[in-house]
Parts: sequence; C-alpha cells; structure tokens
Amino acid sequence: MTGRPVLTIRGLDVDYGTGTHAVHALRSVDLTLHRGEVLGLAGESGSGKSTLAYAVTRLLSPPGVITGGDVHYHPPGQDPVDLLALSARELRAFRWQELSIVFQGAMNSLNPVHTVHSQLTDVLQAHRPQSRAAERTARAEELLTLVGISKDRLSAYPHQLSGGMRQRVMIAMALALEPEIVIMDEPTTALDVVMQRQILRKLVSLREELGFSVVFITHDISLLIEFSDRIAIMYGGRIVEEAASADIYRDPRHPYSDGLLHSFPALHGPRRELTGIPGSPPHLTAMPAGCAFHPRCGKAFAPCASHVPVLAGPPGEPDRTVACWLHRTPPAA
Ligand code: SF4
Repeated sequence: MTGRPVLTIRGLDVDYGTGTHAVHALRSVDLTLHRGEVLGLAGESGSGKSTLAYAVTRLLSPPGVITGGDVHYHPPGQDPVDLLALSARELRAFRWQELSIVFQGAMNSLNPVHTVHSQLTDVLQAHRPQSRAAERTARAEELLTLVGISKDRLSAYPHQLSGGMRQRVMIAMALALEPEIVIMDEPTTALDVVMQRQILRKLVSLREELGFSVVFITHDISLLIEFSDRIAIMYGGRIVEEAASADIYRDPRHPYSDGLLHSFPALHGPRRELTGIPGSPPHLTAMPAGCAFHPRCGKAFAPCASHVPVLAGPPGEPDRTVACWLHRTPPAA
C-alpha cells in the first residue's frame, strides 16, 4: 500500500493492572493505516485485537493502562496529532469527527425508545450545533440511503428493524461526520453469513466512494481475505505477521497465520482442509516464554521456547513482516 499514512502506531504497550500484578496485554505493537485502505486485524479471542482498538481510541477503561509507545493521527495537509496527548475535550471532538468506532454488538446499543431519525440527528446536533433541523434531517436521510436503507425507515424504532438493518444504522452513524478513519470491532459477528457479506460489501463500496480508511477487527480471517487490502495477525498481544491479504492467503509465513487459514472455510478460491489449531490461546497471566505460540506450533525448534522473535521483513520482501525464527537466523544456543 503506497497511500499516505493516516494512523501510525509505534511500540504500543498496554498492561492490565500495575506493579507486580500487571499483565501485558499488548507488546511493542507497530502498525500503519494508509488513506483509503482496509486493514484487517485477525486473531483468536484474547490476542489483543480489541485492546488495541480501545487503546488507540483512548477508550481503554481501568485497569487497562497504556505503558509505552505512541499513536499519531495524520490529518490531510496538517501536522500529525499525538492521540495519547489529547485532553478529554480534544478527544471528544476527535472521536466521530476524525475517527469513529463500531463495536461488537453495536446494533444492540441503539436506544430502544428513540427513532432512527432522533438518534442520527442527535449525533449531528452534538457535533454541529449550528446546523438547522432541516439540514440534519436531510443528512440523516442521505446517510440511511448511503447504507442501503430506505429513508422511510427514519421514523422506525430499533425493534422495528432487522439485525442487519440496525447494524447498518450504526455504520451510518459512524459515517455521519465523514471521519477519516472507521474502526470496526467484530461488526458483523452477530449476523448470519449472508448479511455479514452484504454489509461488508456495502462498507467497501462506501470506502471507495468516500475515501475513508478502515481498521476491521475479526477472528474470522476468511472475511478479511475477502474484504481487506492488508492483514495484521495478532497472537499473545503482539503482531506476528503483516502482509497484503492476497499474500497471507497464498503464502502465510507464520505457522499461526497458516493455522487460522485452516480454521475457517473460504467462500471463494480453492478449498482448504480445515485442520484448526491445536491447544488454546495463552492466558495473559501465563504467557509462554520465547515465542508465545511455541506450545501449539508444529514447527517449533530450539530457540522458540526461550527467545522472542522480532517482527521484521523476511530477506528480500520489503512489503511484509513476520515474527518467526523460521524466517531469520536464530540466536546461537
Ligand atoms: Fe513456531 Fe518457532 Fe516460528 Fe514461533 S518462532 S511460530 S514456535 S517456528
């Protein structure tokens, strides 16, 4: 991806708790989101995907604490903004306006006693108090149409809409102020597979039309292969591989990425045998030494249990990174 960066994360560390009771939830996370890109974030539960989304948006609640690293937003034509240094007031203006987030099960967070019209126009009024009521209604109609819902449904209450429609209302809300970045944390997990793909296809076409960037978080790597430009795979709080979706699909370099690809049926392309990944993800309080994946890895060898492999490009491949001793010279025993 060659577009300019819109979000850069460098060396991000997050702990839950402090002092001797702290557990490390994220370790040295480096990630770049480019303008107009869909960046997928994959990994099993507990890999750190949602913690990363909460940390970047400064929505991490105690005992979660950012202990290191930096996160910068790069607005078009302006100096980078240090997101970790923003005041509460600056953050409120930043969220929705520059970056919006659709959480897991967000469709259930619509207020049941307010119409879609009132919920969409509330967002507009809060951030653009000078706008007139007629303008806000026109924008709400436009937003519903954008996500493929008839504007007649503006007067509906959430319970009068299907799950897929409610999730699309949440996406409309996320796009209301034309943010540069939309973070989607398992946005379609509660929906059936057909509805999931309909919504994601809509999102990708809106991205092409409006030019925003997306961080799309899910445990289902087959969805990411279909809808992302690049994919970062997380395990044990670290990024273990990052590459273009097509490269991850054709030639995953990290044994964990390979295991994920063999855990979900692909709707398109050649069939793969579903072998899954043996064992369970590590608990944050008992992270294995060395490569955290080594107790489950069929390719583990001598250095894996004692040395953490750094995330770096395999020789001669500048566009991908992998953290695995199979792809670099292991330390001497
Ligand atoms: Fe497997 Fe070792 Fe690579 Fe970790 S570093 S994924 S244990 S081969």
